[in-house]
Amino acid sequence: MAAGLTNEQYLLISTVRRFIDNELRPLEDAVEKTGILPTADAKRIFERSRDLGFYAMNIAEHHGGGGLSALDWVLVEEQFGHTTDILIRRAFGNVYEILLSGTPEQHARWLTPSVKGERTFSVAFTEPGAGSDAASIKTTARRDGDGWVLSGQKTFISDAHYSDFFVVTAVTNSSAGARGISTFIIDKGLEGFTIGPDQLMMGLRGTTHAELFFDDVKLGAEALLGPEGGGLKLALQTLGRIRLAQICARAIGKATHVLDMTIEHARQRKQFGQSIGEFQMVQQMLADSAMEINSARLTLHDTARMIDKGNDVREEISMVKVQASETLGRVVDRAVQVFGGSGYAKDLSIERYYRDARICRIYDGTSEIHRSVIGQALLKGSPHLYDMVAQ
Ligand SMILES: Cc1cc2nc3c(=O)[nH]c(=O)nc-3n(C[C@H](O)[C@H](O)[C@H](O)COP(=O)(O)OP(=O)(O)OC[C@H]3O[C@@H](n4cnc5c(N)ncnc54)[C@H](O)[C@@H]3O)c2cc1C
Repeated sequence: MAAGLTNEQYLLISTVRRFIDNELRPLEDAVEKTGILPTADAKRIFERSRDLGFYAMNIAEHHGGGGLSALDWVLVEEQFGHTTDILIRRAFGNVYEILLSGTPEQHARWLTPSVKGERTFSVAFTEPGAGSDAASIKTTARRDGDGWVLSGQKTFISDAHYSDFFVVTAVTNSSAGARGISTFIIDKGLEGFTIGPDQLMMGLRGTTHAELFFDDVKLGAEALLGPEGGGLKLALQTLGRIRLAQICARAIGKATHVLDMTIEHARQRKQFGQSIGEFQMVQQMLADSAMEINSARLTLHDTARMIDKGNDVREEISMVKVQASETLGRVVDRAVQVFGGSGYAKDLSIERYYRDARICRIYDGTSEIHRSVIGQALLKGSPHLYDMVAQ
């Protein structure tokens, strides 16, 4: 049980959990073995999810989405953590809220089809020379009449081969530093735009990651998303809620699922004539995992409630990102230990969870970057981050 949730929220959670158990979990092993989700399966789970009103739940109802509050959304995303991210992407959509900042024309061309599941997209900020330092990108967009010409390269772009378009950052004014970066929407298939081969990863089987190459790609004026020079600000403003949901909540969901499996194994597995759960050192691992998950979940829910009240919670989101992703790392590590050799073997899903978990401390801001956001806020004077009576 979590504190302060309504019956409707529990109903939402259990409906999503049932959908995942019945429709998605049976596909996990095949995706892991083959590296692909067959198109027919992807279509079926998308259609089932859409019919149940589950697709694009984070997007406001007047744009055709589910219109969930931040709290409801993280509750749902926590359940998503109980299966693989790629099945979630196909079933429930991955509509980044950055598109909401577009004009009505941009909404009609890119947002509405995404909310309906007719088009999918990725965000592309990282470059070979610019990861944590997102302001040091080299991709440029130069004015060309009413439009733009885009040149440069992105890397590690999730789901690249499945996406129909990309939200891309580029320098539009090289003398303005972070205020000289703008955001553009780039359709696949434009002349001069190519997508590189799959960059194979440690985990996350079932999708691809790729480099994007822009060789003087001509763009119309309508490709500029948000104000010129406002690209990094736009990203900061719109990616926080999605980070809380897609990374933090899912990490806590994954940790919960892995702990369920670990407890069951500790009950069933017998050594020295008794279940290994009888050994206090095993109990300690279970107890530590449960305590850490609970504590991360409370911080997650608290932060989501603050978003729903309209508070600026940038640093709080950084705190949850570090806490949730590092909790998951410790929980899956203990799980491998409790499972022993079978935790390391490919036959069980524990080793997959172990590999998949590792990325959570890296993408969408590394633990070090989020710690430095928190540390800088503390030094500037943000006692409310740790003292409940401070403003
Ligand atoms: C599977 C996967 C999917 C991804 N998907 C996407 C995507 O869809 N779109 C996208 O744009 N990007 C994506 N990325 C890129 C990802 O966001 C970056 O890898 C991440 O931001 C880190 O950047 P980097 O790899 O360049 O590491 P670097 O920035 O080079 O960092 C290397 C190390 O240095 C540390 N470091 C750097 N700066 C500091 C500092 N100031 N203080 C302390 N330590 C520091 C980092 O914490 C890290 O430990 C993805 C990456 C992976 C692996």
